[in-house]
Amino acid sequence: MVFNRIGLFAGILMTMLLADVNAGNIWTDTAYESTSVPMEPVQVAAHSYYVQGPAGTPTDNEGFMSNAGFVVTDEGVVVFDALGTPSLAYLLLSKIREITSRPVVKVVVSHYHADHIYGLQVFKDLGAEIIAPAGASDYLNSPTAKGRLQQRRESLFPWVDEKTRLIMPDRYIDEPYYFQLGGVDFLVQPLGSTHSEGDQTLFVKQDHVLYVGDLIFEGRIPFVAGAQPEQWMAHLEKLDATSIEHIVPGHGPASNDPRKALAFTLEYLHFVHDNMANAVENLVPFDEAYATLDWSRYEKMPAAQANRMNAYYVYLGLEAASVGE
Ligand SMILES: [Zn+2]
Repeated sequence: MVFNRIGLFAGILMTMLLADVNAGNIWTDTAYESTSVPMEPVQVAAHSYYVQGPAGTPTDNEGFMSNAGFVVTDEGVVVFDALGTPSLAYLLLSKIREITSRPVVKVVVSHYHADHIYGLQVFKDLGAEIIAPAGASDYLNSPTAKGRLQQRRESLFPWVDEKTRLIMPDRYIDEPYYFQLGGVDFLVQPLGSTHSEGDQTLFVKQDHVLYVGDLIFEGRIPFVAGAQPEQWMAHLEKLDATSIEHIVPGHGPASNDPRKALAFTLEYLHFVHDNMANAVENLVPFDEAYATLDWSRYEKMPAAQANRMNAYYVYLGLEAASVGE
């Protein structure tokens, strides 16, 4: 009898909570600090949506700086990337709930960088399968992963706090992975180490939408530290755009022109890489190489403070390679 009453009470409470989530009044009784940043889904095709993080530093806008996507089918939702705090992911979930009550079945993670992953626990706790690129385990098992989370618990408090945790994937992808959900065909394409230790894209066949993660940055300086710039440029150069009608980058607006969308990131990578390669080859010290380059195209863009770090990272990598030859 007692158990029945408890069960009934729990049932009523759950119904109330779900009603709150569906009504958009989601902050009642949740474990996550509320967030006040504006977030509106943009529909790019029949099933495919994304939310766009504003350009800023990792701690501006309560940690909202990267994009996340979601694909709505009759049988459930596939999410692409989970944003930089559990609070943001919970807000994303409430936006998904305004469109569908179907469960979030899978989360495809483009790569394990702080601005895309601290929201994962929200979806994991709902039972979603977390799908990561091969290579992400290098990051997850590194001291950097723990150190970065600790740093964000301070710089993004209270949105990232002691309850925020690193989520281990349920599955690593090291070869193309196809699946169907609700009559929609998905392809997860692993890219090896390009922008990070491991990267992957998600193609939604019926929608002709490609979610590319941080292979493409729009409207801000790309983050190059930790990348393999040569592989990154090669992937952009060989990207087969024939069946892509919409491309959703990891940062910045979606585009209906894949070639145009990747042009800025590719040009920037070439600018940094080719000039640093030239300097290393001619034994020009970094400071001199950096100072004599014309940065005028890039120095006024959001995240321009990354220019020097990007160039230094590429310079050191090329220098190490040249010494090793
Ligand atoms: Zn990012």
